[in-house]
Amino acid sequence: MDNKAPGKDVTDQDLKDKFPLAAKKSPDHRSVFDIAGVTFGAETIPVFAGPNTVESRDQIIDIARNVKKSGAHFLRGGAFKPLTFPYRSEKYYELREEGLGYLADAKAETGLPIITEIMEESKVDAVAEVADIMQIGTRNMQNFPLLTRVAKTGKPVMIKRHFGCSLRDWLGAAEYVLVEGNEKVILCERGVSVPHTHRSSSRFLLDLQVIPAAQEVTHLPVVSDPSHATFWAPWVEPMTLASIAAGADGIMLEVHPDPRNAAVDPLQPIDYQEFDALMTKMKAVASAVERTL
Ligand code: PEP
Ligand code: MN
Repeated sequence: MDNKAPGKDVTDQDLKDKFPLAAKKSPDHRSVFDIAGVTFGAETIPVFAGPNTVESRDQIIDIARNVKKSGAHFLRGGAFKPLTFPYRSEKYYELREEGLGYLADAKAETGLPIITEIMEESKVDAVAEVADIMQIGTRNMQNFPLLTRVAKTGKPVMIKRHFGCSLRDWLGAAEYVLVEGNEKVILCERGVSVPHTHRSSSRFLLDLQVIPAAQEVTHLPVVSDPSHATFWAPWVEPMTLASIAAGADGIMLEVHPDPRNAAVDPLQPIDYQEFDALMTKMKAVASAVERTL
């Protein structure tokens, strides 16, 4: 179907001029690639699980063991965190280089590959040494020098959609990585800003519709992050299952042994038992849409 209207939505001209590398070449064109032995863009839906923030060596290893047991494919966790407020305390912190070391230890102990956020150009080499996937956070989606620098490492890159950006802007960010010759690019929807989120503590709304919308125009895998999108653990399960039903090519989930005492964003993680039960339900929904976990 033609889409010639100018404006914020993706036009046929955009697909030719603005992001020819991110654009599909044919209706069934999908990028399929391997990262650390896990296939992206095919029937299987990779799951990234772990805490918001790396809090301690023992805890991140314990989380890695538990999420692996339940079937997660990657360990997630931030060492460098885009914290909204500048003050740090015993309860609100980021471990930075120390946390990177603990992620490496968790990988060595469990074999789980790592996805972690890169925020600063000066830290790109340090993060690339530990990360199997370099995560660009929502707040840096349009930090173009960072995208270019990260792309040049050759490491796979996951680009979280900025909470106020269109699909067109998001694909523009992906093109910045692709144009450097880095083809392992993953998109991640993590919730957008809207006037109403149905709870005062919920800042974002999961844009489920962007999953099929993106897949209509790009060959890149589209992951969903219901934890950041809902900001509210009880909504994580329904939005995870809905994401799979909507065609998500991967799921990112925050999992913590003691969610309400997590150092950052304690309202959104699920615990080990909840994650394990959710994985079972995810498999059921995946099979209903001819996917596997
Ligand atoms: C995260 O995944 O830890 C994170 C900070 O996510 P976002 O950039 O989507 O807020
Ligand atoms: Mn977070």
